[in-house]
Amino acid sequence: MRRTLAAAISLALSVSATSVAFAQEAPAPVAQDAAPPVVKATTQLPRNVRPLNYTVSVVPHADKLAFDGKAAIRIEVLEPTDKVVLNAVDMTFANVVLNPENGRVQKPKVSIDANAQTATFAFDKPLAAGVYLLSMDYTGKIGTQANGLFAIDYDTKAGKKRALYTQFENSDARKFIPSWDEPNYKAVFDLTADVPARQMAVSNMPVAESKDLGNGMKRVRFQTSPKMSTYLLFFGVGDFERATTTSGATEIGVVTQSGVLDQAKFALQSSADVLKEYNDYFGVPYPLPKLDNVASPGRSQFFGAMENWGAIYTFEYALLLDPSISTQSDKQGVFSIAAHEIAHQWFGDLVTMSWWDDLWLNEGFATWMAARTTQKLHPEWNTALYAVGGREAAMGRDSVATTHPVVQHVETVEQASQAFDAITYQKGGAVISMLEGYVGSDAWREGVRAYMKKHAYGNTVSDDLWRAVQDAAGKPILDIAHDFTLQPGIPLIRVESATCTNGKTTLQFKQGEFTRDRPDKQPLTWRVPVIAQGLGGQPVRTLVENGAGSVEVPGCNPVIVNAGQSGYYRTLYTPQQFAGIRDAFPKLAPIDQLGLMGDTWALGMAGLQASSDYLDLAMRVPADADPQIWGDVASSFESIDRYYEGDDARQKRFRAFAVKTLRPAFARIGWDAKPNEADPVAILRTELIGALAQLGDEQVIAEARRRFAAGDEKAMPAPLRRTILGVVARNADAATWDKLHAMAQAEKSAMVKDQYYALLAVPEDQALAKRALDLALTEEPGETNSAGMIANVGGLHPDLAFDFAVAHMPQIDAKVDTTSRARYYPGLGNNSLDPSMPGKLKAYAEQHVAPTSRRATETSIANIEYRMKVRKDRLPVIDTWLQKHGG
Ligand SMILES: [Zn+2]
Repeated sequence: MRRTLAAAISLALSVSATSVAFAQEAPAPVAQDAAPPVVKATTQLPRNVRPLNYTVSVVPHADKLAFDGKAAIRIEVLEPTDKVVLNAVDMTFANVVLNPENGRVQKPKVSIDANAQTATFAFDKPLAAGVYLLSMDYTGKIGTQANGLFAIDYDTKAGKKRALYTQFENSDARKFIPSWDEPNYKAVFDLTADVPARQMAVSNMPVAESKDLGNGMKRVRFQTSPKMSTYLLFFGVGDFERATTTSGATEIGVVTQSGVLDQAKFALQSSADVLKEYNDYFGVPYPLPKLDNVASPGRSQFFGAMENWGAIYTFEYALLLDPSISTQSDKQGVFSIAAHEIAHQWFGDLVTMSWWDDLWLNEGFATWMAARTTQKLHPEWNTALYAVGGREAAMGRDSVATTHPVVQHVETVEQASQAFDAITYQKGGAVISMLEGYVGSDAWREGVRAYMKKHAYGNTVSDDLWRAVQDAAGKPILDIAHDFTLQPGIPLIRVESATCTNGKTTLQFKQGEFTRDRPDKQPLTWRVPVIAQGLGGQPVRTLVENGAGSVEVPGCNPVIVNAGQSGYYRTLYTPQQFAGIRDAFPKLAPIDQLGLMGDTWALGMAGLQASSDYLDLAMRVPADADPQIWGDVASSFESIDRYYEGDDARQKRFRAFAVKTLRPAFARIGWDAKPNEADPVAILRTELIGALAQLGDEQVIAEARRRFAAGDEKAMPAPLRRTILGVVARNADAATWDKLHAMAQAEKSAMVKDQYYALLAVPEDQALAKRALDLALTEEPGETNSAGMIANVGGLHPDLAFDFAVAHMPQIDAKVDTTSRARYYPGLGNNSLDPSMPGKLKAYAEQHVAPTSRRATETSIANIEYRMKVRKDRLPVIDTWLQKHGG
């Protein structure tokens, strides 16, 4: 699964720098310190019965938001029992019958436990061990948010339409099929559905047979699935179109609503490219006959795309490229999201974690694999530098007390949902990068191939992967892997001294721990693979163990620690070392420039070095630096700007400096794309326009307004359209907001319409933000847009959005998918600098959130308290620096 892309929703609205941008990621409730190695097979169901095969027929009634089902489940009773317990939610049952292979047919008593999400089938006498067929008729509900079987209504030129899709991860297959809905109960599925004859039905496998029922309906039976986990089953039906290509023996498809199939061309070609690459990388060919990617209108607060085996589901904004509005960064997103979901076809679908404790095996691996593959197949995008942003996202989350280890113990369904966070995705991916760097990419790939081969169609725990890599590499990694995955937090490598003798520089390291909220914490200990490199020299490797280490680097030049940035740790230099690296900044490799900026920002805000050190680096960024370096400067300036909110005089002084620093970089690239310019430049253009506008650059705001008023293709070319609209919406007055509103109402493209409604929620003007909140509660924006609108208001008006959401909780709960609820409300308040917000969050959690699911709230509180501390303690240092540098 790919988490929801906040950037795709909030458009030009950017309120935080890299180190805090992902702080909204929710935590998961686990013990703080090292968890024991996970060998325990967790389950919420009794383990005495297991499913072998589900034969399921459904008849959806899309108009009534309900469906009828028939299930015949072949089960194996492993030890005698008088009851069979399985998962079911919102279902009723009739005609339940148990057929033994030999013997008497039995009719069990059925009882439902809504809280436990189970149905129990009780028999008069214990069933003997053996194989049985459990059959039943049942009914279920069709939802309006992306959980279980759900409906999405959308606008088209031909009027309103409704399509049905499913979303089961982590635990919602139980809303569609009475089932053993846990990842380690793998089984095969035979699915049949009665659907309108003119519509297209899609599932994991190709259609085996389609029969006209004569009443405007047809019965579609899909081929038998491979053995797989319940959460990977997919079913969709609607007024769809499909385009295909082939890669080897596999038919690759994209499925969209009718009329927009052309917009999926890039996704189709990308899928073919990626599948070819993965067939080679994994050494086990993709095992299904087809691989579809199904585009759906709407959105979810929980996810952007889902890796159902053979039938990936992706929201339109993450799959389609609309020639009127899509940008370079949308294009890169389409590719990397497809690469992520296709990686899951092996890591997750073919080999699946035994239990949610090891969710990172799915998500960390897919995150890493997508990054690697995007860089390999599209080097012109230079996405290798994104690794630093991913690491910063993880560290933002990993540096407060409520963090958790990558491998964490999960008990409840809600805890499993909360595990989809920056630790699982970005830290998991970063740790893999570090270990791949440690053993070498060939040995790593050999290990992965052996792991795939050995565990195909099975379930694993993390140590299965570590052992396979260790065997392939002939080098121990288990201890390092455990240090970084079984204990939480971030190593801090302190450069204690650097001395040059006989043409060699010796660095002495001491290992501490980087935290944002516990300066006096006793550090945990890690074995840290460290790579150091003297300016212009070769990288040198060492392992820091037991809290200390050293390295000898040829030459007497400044030394960059974590050269290449593959290490998951922060580096704190002595002031003298830092000064040397700072002055050499323009000569560093771009990835090391970015890494150094990330560390300098985070360490400065935490008070471990001067908070103004980041500005010293920013001043040394050459005008022709890599576009992503300027992107980092722009977003960090936006972040500092937010800290000055409400203090006009000081904010004005900072803005003058920030605008003066960014303008030359923007002047180089200008408003209009140049022929043959590099792709990252197009992305930087949108970032600089957004940042300069936020920093109050009147020229940029005026030009955006001029282009909006002109409104034509030349003034608002597709790559700039959303950026210009974002600036205009943010600075909107009532008349402008009304105009944007009218555009949203008139729009017939579902994807573009969704983006207009998101834009209506970004104004700085409080009265307009309130109107956006009221609008979000109406039917008008569409069922799945409202939660995103309220979250967008929370970007600039966190207190307003949070208070509003809490005051309208019953209405808003209906507009948020159940998987996101525990983190949705605290996320709204996350950007607050109001001292009363932590208390409000606490009161909310105590009243509405189970004690085992409160980490999202606690993390928001930690972030708010940290931000207040930054404002109080770090801004004065920046003020002093600005005075000195004529800000
Ligand atoms: Zn994923």
